[in-house]
Amino acid sequence: MLKVYICPICYNFRLVSKRSKAYCLHCNHSLLPCNITYVAYSNLSEEERGKYKAYWIMRKKQTGSCEK
Ligand SMILES: [Zn+2]
Repeated sequence: MLKVYICPICYNFRLVSKRSKAYCLHCNHSLLPCNITYVAYSNLSEEERGKYKAYWIMRKKQTGSCEK
């Protein structure tokens, strides 16, 4: 079962299986779990993924972090 994670630094999405540790492949920062399922994520279009990324960027600007 894959889970969707996002990097709080460069906002790259990554699909991570339960066993492996969630680190960003680009900046090596630990990732945050997204509130979206893998199935839902895989059904998103490129445009919708861009919007979802923008949502996380906005959320970090507002709260100072991506933490819940
Ligand atoms: Zn990153």
